[in-house]
Amino acid sequence: MRKIILAITLVAAMLGSATPAAAVEIKVKTSGGTEKIEGFDSGQWTYLNLCELSDIIGAKIEWRKIGYSAVLTVDGHHFRFTVESPYVNCDGEVNSLVLPAKLIKGALFVPAESFAPLLDKARQENIVWDPGAQMLRIDTEYFNITDLAINPKENGTLIEVFTSDSVQYQIYQTEGNWLNIEFPGGKINRTKIMAVNSPAVIKIDAFQFENSAQLAIQLRKGFSKFRQSYKTDPRRLQIAIEDESFVPDSTAAGLTTRIGPDDKVDIIVVDAGHGGKEYGAIGRKWGTREKDITLDIARELAKLLRKDNTFKVIMTRNKDEVVPLNTRAKIANDARADMFVSIHCNASTKKTAHGFQVFYLAPAKNDSARAVAQAENAPFLVDDPSLKTSGDGDLAVILNDMIQTEFLAESADLAYMMDMEMRKNITLKSRGVDHAGFVVLNRVYMPSNLVETAFISNVDEEKLLRSKDFRKKSAQAIYNAIKRFQAKYEGK
Ligand SMILES: [Zn+2]
Repeated sequence: MRKIILAITLVAAMLGSATPAAAVEIKVKTSGGTEKIEGFDSGQWTYLNLCELSDIIGAKIEWRKIGYSAVLTVDGHHFRFTVESPYVNCDGEVNSLVLPAKLIKGALFVPAESFAPLLDKARQENIVWDPGAQMLRIDTEYFNITDLAINPKENGTLIEVFTSDSVQYQIYQTEGNWLNIEFPGGKINRTKIMAVNSPAVIKIDAFQFENSAQLAIQLRKGFSKFRQSYKTDPRRLQIAIEDESFVPDSTAAGLTTRIGPDDKVDIIVVDAGHGGKEYGAIGRKWGTREKDITLDIARELAKLLRKDNTFKVIMTRNKDEVVPLNTRAKIANDARADMFVSIHCNASTKKTAHGFQVFYLAPAKNDSARAVAQAENAPFLVDDPSLKTSGDGDLAVILNDMIQTEFLAESADLAYMMDMEMRKNITLKSRGVDHAGFVVLNRVYMPSNLVETAFISNVDEEKLLRSKDFRKKSAQAIYNAIKRFQAKYEGK
């Protein structure tokens, strides 16, 4: 009898070690406030419910083989987890979570300690796991060195380092033709430092130290002389690197292109969603009409752009009227505009759905990607009447292979700038940047975005959308992003 009891105890102990020890509540702190998600203490580290977290950060989880492998997509980065395996494939690179991913009641759990640094690399914000507070901190105000642009010019190369506030810096050269920029107190967004393909630059490294950040730029032979200046609106450090082999054409003396902007980013199309009998979504409590909100934000944005003498603004509508989606695209294309920004309000049957979101258009490359895009599109299309009544708004047309891909990278970059500026200017949660096949964006041959400012179907956010202050702040955020984009891309 005693043996049997012992055996049962042993089995129970073994089972116990395989199932979560103690359930804990994990806090996720974002600019939009603190939310709680499910977690458990494994005895070693704390696991968090990745499905719940992905909802908060605007990511997506897709199961590849039910109960076996899942892919988390965050801001264009892919993490593939395998249940009971500690390995995670991040964009093709294998990393270890130390402890295995767990599948519990259909949800994927991962150790917060080891997953937070991986997520941190993929996101623009600083993401830190605070074990004491059992809190995942997603800090949007963290970086002050936010982006980098390298533009080749006729007589050299212009490197621009974008900053969110005025930062101190010190430039010095070291052996091997390295140009180093030291930022005391700098916090650098390393996700923005990409591989370069430039006549002047071999490579760029970014380093984050405890009290400073550093950019190390290795220059090619014949490129070592530079000039520097600091510009505002948007704030950026400009480093002009001279091409020492450049010989100005004597016949065109005085006409040589200087290092600096030439091609302009100045014609901006502001598209107020819906209009006329196309009301768009309707607010749950006050019956607010999306078409009125979008027009007001569009007008505020146009006002800001016009005040800035570097822009020419075209509005697809400036009154309460129906403008077919094709016509909107035609207006933009005929004007040979440099950018198209469509303004909308989100809506959901889920009352609690909240936050802003920026979309750019992306084509579906193959049947499985198409199926994913179709699934991603469906809720939006249902929620957005203008997309259904456009006349050619069926998915086959939306997802056709004719979709322009030329401005994909610029559109994605613009979307991230919009997302960043929205995070700074309005207090709502970011649902992350996403892509989908939108009719209104699919025919415009220029960088384009669609901004869902807030959920009109959420009572709190409907109230916000009704306030002039919120609409002005939204317009200001979009304007700041356009300025940022202009500064980065002018002269390319
Ligand atoms: Zn809409």
